[in-house]
Amino acid sequence: MSINYPRYPIAMDRGEGCHVYDAEGKRYIDLFAGFGGPVLGHCHPDLVAAVTEQANKLWHVGNLFHTEPQTLLAEAIAKHGFGGRSFFCHSGADANDSAIKLSRLYGLANPASDGKPRHGLITANNSFHGRSFGTMVATAQPKVRQGFEPHIEPAKHVSFNDIEAVQAAIDENTVAIMVEPIQGEGGVNVPDEDYLPQLRSLCDERDLLLIMDEVWTGCGRTGRYFAHQHWGIQPDIMTLAKGVGGGLAVGVMCALDRVAKYFDYREHGGVAHATTLGGNCLSMAVSATIFHVLERDGLVERAAELGKYAIERMTKFAETCNAVREARGRGLFIGVELDPADAWFDTGADVVNKCMEHGVLINATQGTVLRFAPPLTISREDFDEGLDLIERVIAGEE
Ligand code: PMP
Repeated sequence: MSINYPRYPIAMDRGEGCHVYDAEGKRYIDLFAGFGGPVLGHCHPDLVAAVTEQANKLWHVGNLFHTEPQTLLAEAIAKHGFGGRSFFCHSGADANDSAIKLSRLYGLANPASDGKPRHGLITANNSFHGRSFGTMVATAQPKVRQGFEPHIEPAKHVSFNDIEAVQAAIDENTVAIMVEPIQGEGGVNVPDEDYLPQLRSLCDERDLLLIMDEVWTGCGRTGRYFAHQHWGIQPDIMTLAKGVGGGLAVGVMCALDRVAKYFDYREHGGVAHATTLGGNCLSMAVSATIFHVLERDGLVERAAELGKYAIERMTKFAETCNAVREARGRGLFIGVELDPADAWFDTGADVVNKCMEHGVLINATQGTVLRFAPPLTISREDFDEGLDLIERVIAGEE
């Protein structure tokens, strides 16, 4: 195997709900389930049933035919708030690549005043949009691009949560602004209340596409089906991955009709974009069932409540413990910023490793931000058991 991942010396063997078990049988509470993939937890019975039923029926026929599971997923996304058209692919990078390609066709059809096609993209510092050739220039983290020169033309990167910085970066060539409604890899950064509405207005004024990267924040994670709904705005394009596959490789690029039409083969004069296995029946059966379970079990509202509770709990803890600066996030997308100055640890990774020794899985990003993103199905008792341990570890009591 390629040694591109710094793996822990642990082999995971099986999972159930918010728990995973390693090959020695040790149990872990998984508060960062699969980097956001298994949004309903591990081996959710409804997903196991859906994939098993579909596996006995039909796997893949290619995208020249209609299949019911694709239709059900497209309908679910439309029903829960994004009333556009869905293109199915395999990952977050894949979905964002599709969005960037679509924005180029939009810029070709809606050129600058001098008639030149527009293709400029603006993204935010510390953003993460993927590592493919198309998306690594959108990802505003130099370490992701380093060594892979020559790049395609880079996006302009501006401060997150700073509308004036975006305004200043727009020029004749700009066609789209891509942003995570809440930054994930960048440290769970929630923007001010007016930032996203202002971005929407700016895009309307300047005929720019607002591309909302909901790879982390989609599918109920933040306590709304899609995080942009917290701000009552409608993006032109929304991308999904991670949770939408429940642990399978699924990406979705959704676009409003007025933009999606540039991918229409009749408009384009041929196939503009495609991927062989995108929308395969197995993945789509799982993804459609995820939305069904989210709605049936009220998991989106539950994520909002449980997340509020956890952020309040960690905020109280921060008041009593100098090693924690603040807790932030929305729903079950939570960041806890550490202050290592007088603590036993130097980085978030030290805390992550100690928690893992004690059977709790979390993540750290940007050096000192702990991240919790448990399955939306986690019980309050399991979450509390994990948070108790995390607090003791941070305080140096374990
Ligand atoms: N967008 C965001 C917001 C992400 O956090 C990530 C991955 N962390 C991606 C896109 C890329 O997704 P993938 O790893 O599935 O390509």
